[in-house]
Amino acid sequence: MLDGRGVADAIKQEVAHEVRRLKDENGVQPRLAAVLVGDDPASAVYVRNKVRACDEVGIASEQVALAASTTTDELLNIVNELNRNDEVDGILVQLPLPKQIDDATIIESIDPAKDVDAFHPINVGLLAMGRPRFSPCTPAGIIELLVRNQIEIAGANACVVGRSQIVGRPVASLLLQRHATVTVCHSQTRDLPSVTRQADILVAAIGRPAFIRGEFIKPGATVIDVGVNQVRNAAEAPELFGAEAQKRIEAIEKRGYTLIGDVHPAEADRVAGKRTPVPGGVGLLTVAMLMKNTLQAAKWRRGF
Ligand code: NAP
Repeated sequence: MLDGRGVADAIKQEVAHEVRRLKDENGVQPRLAAVLVGDDPASAVYVRNKVRACDEVGIASEQVALAASTTTDELLNIVNELNRNDEVDGILVQLPLPKQIDDATIIESIDPAKDVDAFHPINVGLLAMGRPRFSPCTPAGIIELLVRNQIEIAGANACVVGRSQIVGRPVASLLLQRHATVTVCHSQTRDLPSVTRQADILVAAIGRPAFIRGEFIKPGATVIDVGVNQVRNAAEAPELFGAEAQKRIEAIEKRGYTLIGDVHPAEADRVAGKRTPVPGGVGLLTVAMLMKNTLQAAKWRRGF
């Protein structure tokens, strides 16, 4: 099992050390502004975790909570204010936004120097050119996890299933930059298992519970499971979770659901060499990398 928590903690400790140094030597404290629009419970949890991580590493944070009825213009005004505020180093607008707001307009309005999610076209372009300024947090976290576990990327066959702007495409760019031979799959890929079975490193970012079965995986491969899905039916747990089933059934009874990724955990355990758990894998790294990007933004903006 690839330990996302251990790597995330190590990254946060490194960030905390550097934040302290910046404060002691230069009197600067990095600051993140997190904007949450509406009352989606999952988004609220994500923002809360990000603010909590800021506290842990010594980054100042502010949360801007806006009503679900907020318009594109109103949100644009808030982002522009944060762009102008010299105290703010990083701006994060939690996605997804309510339907009436145009995501692209908002993302493109964020000052690229404060774009710690790295979704602005300038940062996307720099990444595609192989010279990223910020790397998007989830893909960058995946690379850290591979590197810190000494999983060789250069020369490996890497397969990414999913081509979203926030995970699939950028993780493919980062793997390519580290000299993997990269294949990107999507919903129109023919005979998907025959393609994914070539992969030494398989990244699943699909959004479908337990979609990647044993026959999709090359024996011994490293499997990175980005998906975050829910299982609500306790009767499915033994087949999906194997030895962990009882723990998962208890979670379903207590909370109404347990989390599962895009990879079938019990089947992957029979075939893969290593895999990331869900929860406890990629999600924790996403938050750690946001801290790293915010620190980086503060240093660049302030000339350190
Ligand atoms: P997304 O924007 O919905 O993209 C899903 C991708 O999967 C699309 O490219 C789609 O192909 C592909 N796909 C769908 N069905 C497929 C099939 N049957 N065969 C092959 N490919 C298929 O999703 P996302 O935003 O990348 O997120 C993916 C998952 O990761 C979700 O579960 C999300 O919650 C999770 N996530 C986790 C984190 C974290 O920090 N842990 C961060 C971000 C996302 P097409 O392009 O052809 O439609």
